[in-house]
Amino acid sequence: MASEVITVPSFATHADGVEHFFGTRLSCVSVTPGGASAPGSRHRDQAATVMVSVKQVHGTDALVVDRPVVQGEAFEGGWDALVTDQPGVMVTVRTADCVPVLLHDPVRRVVAAIHAGWRGAVAGIVPKTVALLVSRFGATIGRLQMAIGPSAGPCCYEVDEPVLARLREVFPEWQAVVKPVSRQRAHLDLRAFVRRQALADGLDAERITTVDACTICQPDLFFSYRREGVVNGTMVSGIALVSRR
Ligand SMILES: [Zn+2]
Repeated sequence: MASEVITVPSFATHADGVEHFFGTRLSCVSVTPGGASAPGSRHRDQAATVMVSVKQVHGTDALVVDRPVVQGEAFEGGWDALVTDQPGVMVTVRTADCVPVLLHDPVRRVVAAIHAGWRGAVAGIVPKTVALLVSRFGATIGRLQMAIGPSAGPCCYEVDEPVLARLREVFPEWQAVVKPVSRQRAHLDLRAFVRRQALADGLDAERITTVDACTICQPDLFFSYRREGVVNGTMVSGIALVSRR
């Protein structure tokens, strides 16, 4: 894969009025956590006028951006989902092994970016954000397009009993997304978990695309906290409605 960012044509193209990308460690896309910054010169088509990035807290709350945003504007607080119906505002999340999830309703014209680690996923950040798109913006669940980005994969992502216990509590189909490696440990397919949650929520299977790439075992493409043991960097992923002037 030679490109600096990963895009998913079946999820959205420019013709849909949506620009999106999943970052890699080669992307050079930079954002300012806690504020709105200008899209960098490396940012391909400059459809976004500002990029919004916020502090992430492994929770389930969403920042709703339903008014224009100017460069330099601050967003103090912590959120793990960002939702906007404002053209030109690119909502972004930063991940290393957690799952970046992008959503849009092509008719209602509203987009979301979600940072889903195991904590957020188990706490229901994806269904909660979908519910917000519906209740606050009038999105239709069956029409939502979802793209699930690169993250720690089932090949490498080992979790222990406390994580498995939480998963069993909230997710009846938990056995479908874990592969035991010992009595107390298992490999978790976080992307499959997110996908199954979305299906249970009523999203159309044909409108959900998963990028099958593991941040832990593809060091040439991705940063990984699990592999590197420190935060050497994060990948930025984002989505914006294209301004129609
Ligand atoms: Zn892997």
